[in-house]
Amino acid sequence: MLVFKFGGASVKDAEGIINLANVVGKYKSEQLLIVVSAMGKTTNALENLAKAYADQTDDLHDVYEDIKKYHYDILAELFDANDQVFNDVANTFVEIDWMIEDEPHDDFDFIYDQIVSVGELVSTRIVTAYLNKAGLKSQWLDVRGYIHTDNTYREGVVQWDKTCESIQQGIPALLEKGIVVTQGFLGGTSENFTTTLGREGSDYTASIFAACLGAASVTTWKDVPGILNADPKLFEDTVKFDELSYTEAIEMTYYGATVIHPKTIKPLQNAKIPLFVKPFNHPEEAGTIIIESAAHVFEKPVIIIKQSQVLLSLSPKDYSFISEDHLSDIFGRFAKGHVKINMMQTSALSFSICFDHKTESFDKLLADISTDYKAKYNSDLTLITIRHYADNTLKTLTTGKTILLEQISRNTIQVVVK
Ligand code: ASP
Ligand code: MG
Repeated sequence: MLVFKFGGASVKDAEGIINLANVVGKYKSEQLLIVVSAMGKTTNALENLAKAYADQTDDLHDVYEDIKKYHYDILAELFDANDQVFNDVANTFVEIDWMIEDEPHDDFDFIYDQIVSVGELVSTRIVTAYLNKAGLKSQWLDVRGYIHTDNTYREGVVQWDKTCESIQQGIPALLEKGIVVTQGFLGGTSENFTTTLGREGSDYTASIFAACLGAASVTTWKDVPGILNADPKLFEDTVKFDELSYTEAIEMTYYGATVIHPKTIKPLQNAKIPLFVKPFNHPEEAGTIIIESAAHVFEKPVIIIKQSQVLLSLSPKDYSFISEDHLSDIFGRFAKGHVKINMMQTSALSFSICFDHKTESFDKLLADISTDYKAKYNSDLTLITIRHYADNTLKTLTTGKTILLEQISRNTIQVVVK
């Protein structure tokens, strides 16, 4: 059996859904499980809705109406007015209707997951209905009964044993009957609440199903020809990799390449399942294959750009040297504040750490850490990671920019620039 994943960009409008059905139609003879994200930028819009509800702002109902209208406009292009899918979608939105009638719960992360999850619940209703209309027999599956997580809202931790047991028990019989369409990014707790797996988590969902079912492969259908050496929105003359090893793919996502979710690769590597990244507009193209024994040719370096970085320098308030005790204390505070470190460097009197600027967590961390350390920081910086660099690569990328921090190892250069 095969696992397909279609991201938000592939289902952003009626045309995208029609194209999805064309792609799927080429695989009619296969058993297929299809993981779908929320349509277009719906997750961002639902995040705004969750905030508007939690803060009880005046635009709450307008934000919500825009989200509904976007989906109903697409439905109107794809289906006759009396199609059952209109009811299915309305019944899904009802969950939000009910929730926003009441006073907000005080745990924002809980609210977030209950609201934001509707994006995937609705998109999969629409995709399932359209596949059936196109003659591709499909069943809608509520993923929350299969991907079991703890109750860390917004960052649900998958309980692998329980999840694989549910998937292995339930899914094979359904695959016999037709295509299974399910939601990316979502999980369910033992109390039947909805969790999400972290932004862009649908790739991870596809990889969980594939690993538990022993799929022949996973394909993620994207708006790019495959995995490129750099972001084509930022660089000209990018090249596509035909093959990449799991390890290289893990390294790339670790440094911030956004083409696949970082948690996706490991389960596939363990189960030796290849991952294809292919263009949804040219499904016949080979794309990139990620496998164990990839023939690597890095004719151009891999360049990964992360914007909105903060560089924080800490020195102990008592003017002592930076010691192992300080480092352990600092790491502890980063872990507690859920701030992921992208790069770091230590000197005698200060320790510098580069990380993504997320206002809320940064403010908390800074307040906490400033009690014991003198803290100086720069924001609005860019972290450039270059793998498999050539002699001139760094110079070309940093000319005219101020380098604030630099680190070079055999395969990788990282610089923080202004
Ligand atoms: N819809 C979710 C997001 O935009 C999950 C995903 O697309 O992978 O983050
Ligand atoms: Mg997405």
